[in-house]
Amino acid sequence: MTTAAINDIRQLLSGNKKIVIIPHKNPDGDAMGSTLALCAYLRQLGHHTSVVAPNEYPHFLKWLPAEEQTIIYSQEEEKATTLIAEAELIFTLDFNHLSRTGALEQHLKKARAPFVMIDHHQQPDSYAIVTYSDTSMSSTCQMVYHFLEALEATHYITPEMAACLYTGIMTDTGSFRFSATTAQTHRVIAALIEKGANNTAIHQNIYDTNSYTKLQLLGVALNNLKVIPEYRTAYITLTQEELDTHSFQKGDTEGFVNYGLSLDGIIFAVIFIENKNDAIIKMSLRSKGDFSVNDVARKHYHGGGHINAAGGKSDLNMEQTVAHFISILPEYKAQLSQ
Ligand code: 5GP
Ligand code: MN
Repeated sequence: MTTAAINDIRQLLSGNKKIVIIPHKNPDGDAMGSTLALCAYLRQLGHHTSVVAPNEYPHFLKWLPAEEQTIIYSQEEEKATTLIAEAELIFTLDFNHLSRTGALEQHLKKARAPFVMIDHHQQPDSYAIVTYSDTSMSSTCQMVYHFLEALEATHYITPEMAACLYTGIMTDTGSFRFSATTAQTHRVIAALIEKGANNTAIHQNIYDTNSYTKLQLLGVALNNLKVIPEYRTAYITLTQEELDTHSFQKGDTEGFVNYGLSLDGIIFAVIFIENKNDAIIKMSLRSKGDFSVNDVARKHYHGGGHINAAGGKSDLNMEQTVAHFISILPEYKAQLSQ
């Protein structure tokens, strides 16, 4: 963070304020971990602080300390909109464009409060008066740790906050294996363990709480896996019917796309997941090396993200979406072919 940004933050945090913290729609471990940890810090300073999430988050995050205090807009619209309208300061974490908050966007656009963005996604928008954006960072949780360092406030980190921050760094780095995992990331993780994060318990809470039906759904996904060797590409499809017959719950398909990328020689993997309710096919894109799935998601799928992990959607049906996907691969021939 720049000295000017740190000074601006100190100014914004003077006095006791009404503060709202917003994660992106379909919040993941990084979004929930970072917002909950920041919320706990701001409450210690005496601010009236709430986390307002656009919609529900997966069950494997339902153990995070103080998660039950999150206001979920899709379930408590009036409470959420009042908090946003009355807020004196709004933090937006783990996203860089207000459209990433879905139906909350209209309320955020009407808010009187200034915004502070803390985020690590590519090409941030300019709605905030303080933008702490660093695309080299492993996670927003790591950035919240550096944010507290910059404010000389790491002594405020409780074991509960440490668990939240550890969770987001762990989930966004694929358990410390993706390329944004640096020596500095590990130093932050070491500090969080010293602050009381129980690493073994956190791994178990996130990764060893699968339902039987989720593993059966993984079986279906792996059965549907297709490989296009000439483009070093693999993709998985899951239809609404397949989700329904396996009692799909939010978060159940998290990580499935990585199985495509685990195939020897594959550098580009996609999962297409039908959502009949929203009449879309939701896509997760992953890559290895320099091939930018952020570019692919932005150009073709109304989405974005990072170089090696991005998301987007298609308004076509499953069959057409897959056919269209195959039709765009030649555009990336130089990068994808051997
Ligand atoms: P996932 O595939 O796990 O949902 O998301 C991968 C990355 O892409 C995350 O960093 C996420 O924030 C971002 N992302 C996912 N879906 C979208 C989307 O629809 N639009 C944009 N801009 N980013 C997305
Ligand atoms: Mn993140």
